[in-house]
Amino acid sequence: MTVPHQRLNERNIATSAPTTRGNDARFRTQVRRFLDQALTEDLRAAGRATIGTHSEIGACRIWHRRLYEQGWIAPAWPKEHGGTGWSASERLIFDQECAANDAPMLFAGGLRNVGPLLIALGSEAQRKRYLPPILSGEEFWCQGYSEAGAGSDLASLRTRARTEAYRDGDAYVVNGTKIWTTGAQHAEKMFALVRTSAGGKPQHGITFLLIDMRSAGITVRPVQTLYGEAEFNEVHFEDVRVPVADRVGAEDDGWSVAKQLMVYARASNTTCALLRRTLRRLEAALEAADAATRASVRDDLTDIELRLNVIERLEYDAARREGSDAGAHASVMKLRATELHQRMTELLLEVAGPAACRQWLDHADLAEPGGAFASAKYFATRAATIYSGSSEVHRNILARQLIG
Ligand SMILES: Cc1cc2nc3c(=O)[nH]c(=O)nc-3n(C[C@H](O)[C@H](O)[C@H](O)COP(=O)(O)OP(=O)(O)OC[C@H]3O[C@@H](n4cnc5c(N)ncnc54)[C@H](O)[C@@H]3O)c2cc1C
Repeated sequence: MTVPHQRLNERNIATSAPTTRGNDARFRTQVRRFLDQALTEDLRAAGRATIGTHSEIGACRIWHRRLYEQGWIAPAWPKEHGGTGWSASERLIFDQECAANDAPMLFAGGLRNVGPLLIALGSEAQRKRYLPPILSGEEFWCQGYSEAGAGSDLASLRTRARTEAYRDGDAYVVNGTKIWTTGAQHAEKMFALVRTSAGGKPQHGITFLLIDMRSAGITVRPVQTLYGEAEFNEVHFEDVRVPVADRVGAEDDGWSVAKQLMVYARASNTTCALLRRTLRRLEAALEAADAATRASVRDDLTDIELRLNVIERLEYDAARREGSDAGAHASVMKLRATELHQRMTELLLEVAGPAACRQWLDHADLAEPGGAFASAKYFATRAATIYSGSSEVHRNILARQLIG
């Protein structure tokens, strides 16, 4: 079967200027050459087998390091902080080629979320301490926002912190429990929201901290997901000391810091690169399907490709605006991308047929064509309209912007 979306997409990305198109074509060739030699078969298999928001963690670390050594680990960052200096269309081309060549999906909380946040709002000392190990992959970051009873209603969080004298300066002493913390079992660091004072509006009195996951008093308990992996965790804090120097923004004003970070997170958690990977698997499943099945989904596939191009355009616009994006744009992208992703996985499961569930229960290889991937991906993608703000919450945000 041909891959029409890919050709469509290659035509569509860039600006209309012929010289820019020529540069883009050269850039694409350069990226392909690099991926050809840098991606081993093991890394490609890990990329194909990706079910959740990142690939198997060992493959993530190896791939992160290779991109770092190439100088390509943080295309979205300003050049002076370690970015590549690529144009928006080059960044998109890079993502497309990584997806088309089954590169592993990075564990990217540092690169996509806390890194850009520290560049925007961190102190000079924080940038100096934290940006280099994010780039090199020595420190992976997880997000400690949600708690039992504080998900959509995040401002009701109860993990608390008080200050006391500690070593050569003051420290926050943190007690409480976070939940649904993706990758906490792999992360060296966590950015977290804690309550430092009560009374008044619930959004007031929250503070944004950078916490070392290797600190005494932290216990991580994996939580098994619907699709069988322990992607997220419960994290307990018992008298955990966090130097006051590791606070971002002012004490009690972490809400505004957290909101800024969520704009980065929401615009980047279901990217077109992720959608294109799923589409590739759908196309592979269709190749193995009978003619009647292929005919029955042709219209759906065209519709999916068109919608994907629209989302890619939104992503391109966001990249051109260099992250100074309004929350509404991030909400539109998150809604459209996650809902399309779910639709793709529904179609994938339909094409894979009833055998898919059996193959998954039999632990068939997720990197191989076949139904196991379809089943696992279908279940994993149910979560996409919940994390980083549920679809209902994003519709509320948009409604407030529209209606006031
Ligand atoms: C796979 C996965 C990974 C995650 N990773 C992380 C992580 O790394 N770090 C982290 O901090 N959190 C993480 N989360 C948590 C996630 O952010 C929360 O699950 C999410 O905010 C929803 O909160 P909740 O689960 O408490 O559901 P609730 O807030 O209790 O919502 C339950 C239902 O009510 C609806 N609802 C709630 N309020 C409203 C409203 N005002 N209007 C309309 N409908 C409403 C919701 O849409 C939802 O359908 C993850 C979640 C998942 C599923």
